[in-house]
Amino acid sequence: MKIVNIRTIPLSYRCEPPYGSAGGMQARRGGLLVEIETDGRVTGIGEAGLGGGATGPVIEKVLQPMLIGEDPLLIEGLWQKMFARTRQYGRRGIVMNAISGIDIALWDIAGKVANLPLYRLLGGCRDRVEAYASGGFYQEGKSIDGLAAEAESYRARGFRGVKMKIGRNPSTQTHLRHLVEDAGLCVVDPEEDIARVAAVRRALGPRAKLMVDVNCAWSPAFAIEMGRALEPYKLYWIEEPVATDDIDGSAAVAGALATPIAGYETEIGLDGFRQLIARGAVDIVQPDIAWSGGFSECRRIAALAQAHHRMVAPHAFASAVTLAASLHFTASIPNGLVLEFDQNPNGLRDELLQEPLAVESDGSMRLPERPGLGIELDRSAIERYGIA
Ligand SMILES: [Mg+2]
Repeated sequence: MKIVNIRTIPLSYRCEPPYGSAGGMQARRGGLLVEIETDGRVTGIGEAGLGGGATGPVIEKVLQPMLIGEDPLLIEGLWQKMFARTRQYGRRGIVMNAISGIDIALWDIAGKVANLPLYRLLGGCRDRVEAYASGGFYQEGKSIDGLAAEAESYRARGFRGVKMKIGRNPSTQTHLRHLVEDAGLCVVDPEEDIARVAAVRRALGPRAKLMVDVNCAWSPAFAIEMGRALEPYKLYWIEEPVATDDIDGSAAVAGALATPIAGYETEIGLDGFRQLIARGAVDIVQPDIAWSGGFSECRRIAALAQAHHRMVAPHAFASAVTLAASLHFTASIPNGLVLEFDQNPNGLRDELLQEPLAVESDGSMRLPERPGLGIELDRSAIERYGIA
């Protein structure tokens, strides 16, 4: 079997109204699907991080010529070839986003050829995964009561965990606020963030998992101060409290707080995560399968985390294809903790698959049992959201 063509399909969904985190406002959600055609009847589907729109050209112009004519089942060899030949300008960021989408599609092919769902082909650990509701964004007009009602609606649907955004604070002496954007919308005082967390904890009750995501906005000292102020609310984790590259700062936060520190979706690849794990910057490890090298690299990251007795809770915040891949990944590793299930309105999550993925009433997601990722794209949704 040989690879004969690689196609990228960029998608865009408008967020109405926009919503925000400490990292910026979200007016559009994007997706970049990757389809790999073989000379057999098998086509693989993947998804790559958008890389600001630059990932598609990297796949088509840089990586595709390395792969045409190659055996799609030599996945590790192809991965290493793509990584080695882009070493000078790759290793992180856009090139790894591109490799991720290709790797996911290659594993989809492998599962289809083996006639096994991917998580079983990878030597599965479980056939269902606990999902948590990822929401609680800042939004114009969303009151604290509205936020609490949102969290309650997730609990009512069966979710046993909810993640919300905090950290959109203008006066915390960190650099991010000044860099990200003109942040007139949804800027709150730290005290208001604490009140938001308190309201969500009340809505969820004492037993539910409650996580907060700071999106790298705080200084280490302020993260420690806020982490202590939030201790009464028994957070399951604090996500990305400080800048991704402030590894010592994150380690200081993790050392000072009893609350686990989770991160960093914004780090990429095994070597990046090696730094975070070895230096004690994270208690819970959060690679994104569509950014951080696909199944091949993320399973290495998970193995490294396992060697350091750390759990993995993948970041997943793109289309249904990334969600499906993340589900298989989480089910295939021994230290898969929980899976992020974005709950913001998103047609790329709800309409892209012929059978959308859903949470069960017990808060878990069942693995698709068809071969590969076990998904079929709905081509009418691709026409609706496809961009030239
Ligand atoms: Mg996050």
